[in-house]
Amino acid sequence: MVERQAIHAVHADDHEELLERLGLLESFKSGELVCGNCERPVVEHGLGLVRMNDAREIEVACAEATCRKSDGREG
Ligand SMILES: [Zn+2]
Repeated sequence: MVERQAIHAVHADDHEELLERLGLLESFKSGELVCGNCERPVVEHGLGLVRMNDAREIEVACAEATCRKSDGREG
């Protein structure tokens, strides 16, 4: 597994604000933003995790327990 830097562990309450700040809110709502783990639209289960990868790209995981814990780190 590649090293990743968790930039935020988000709670459901403030995920929209975070996504908006990252410019991802529209993609999230339209279903274009997919979970990096299960590759389903994040909006289906809600946002579980947002982080930045080595390429400085934002990666997201949905709120499915298996997805948000796949990195072994949260909060
Ligand atoms: Zn997922």
